[in-house]
Amino acid sequence: MSELLMDLADCGSPERLIQAILRHHPHWEPPVPIEALATAVNISEIRELETQGFEGALVTNPGKTEGVIFHRAGTPDGRRRFTIGHELGHFLIPTHTGNQQCKSGDMSQTGFKTPEQRREYEANRFAAGVLMPKPWFERDTDRLGDPDVTHVLELSRRYRTSFEATVNRFVELSGPPCAFVFSLDGKIRYVRKSPNFPQMSVAAGQRLPSDSATVVKPPALLRAASPWYEVEGATWLYAEWGRRTQNVLEQSMRQANGYQVTLLTLADDDLAADDDDTGDTGEWRAPSF
Ligand SMILES: [Zn+2]
Repeated sequence: MSELLMDLADCGSPERLIQAILRHHPHWEPPVPIEALATAVNISEIRELETQGFEGALVTNPGKTEGVIFHRAGTPDGRRRFTIGHELGHFLIPTHTGNQQCKSGDMSQTGFKTPEQRREYEANRFAAGVLMPKPWFERDTDRLGDPDVTHVLELSRRYRTSFEATVNRFVELSGPPCAFVFSLDGKIRYVRKSPNFPQMSVAAGQRLPSDSATVVKPPALLRAASPWYEVEGATWLYAEWGRRTQNVLEQSMRQANGYQVTLLTLADDDLAADDDDTGDTGEWRAPSF
């Protein structure tokens, strides 16, 4: 048994496994060689499978000391790497059984109501954490400065991860509060926000706000970020009756086939000062298009 495997045998959580892996590979840089890592811990084969039924699967011997990972054929590189990371998570996390078939919903599972959900969530934490290690990712987002849609593109190229997985990691680890809204043909598909971003007034299934810059001022070119626009907070944020919300900075990018992504951050605002005076909420700022 290799030294790495002996160390990994002592680790119960995804985070401890990742720490041990990185300790053994101090010279690694992004992108993490996920296939080589799998081989080093006794995954004997990584195979493509023609199926629509699941994204990834793991088959092991009874002792779970050797395994084979399957991923759906035709999956783009970033997503395939995440699937391999996810199945490797099932393989290395001691409480997970050796035979797994994981659907695409499992790959984004963040719940822990049932034991199955918790295991999928742990496998996802392992995949995201091993492909985008926290210390590296935080250093890179720091270096890039204030949040920007183009930073996520840059990070997804650097780490060879999908745009969606990179966004998830970005809202988790980047410092300033921010939120990403994914839409298709003007309808919101899903929202990912950092824990410190205020409660939002929009949700999956709704139309994009008609006064948002994403709707009013979409960028002309595909995959090019729009300028930043400052809009009324109430466009995007949940507002308590009679209280003004902080203004929001909005940037959007059009992807192919009607897909669009919007990044929201909070504008520097004198709201705190406003709260201290006589409760004057009459001031109304027009969106600065
Ligand atoms: Zn799974």
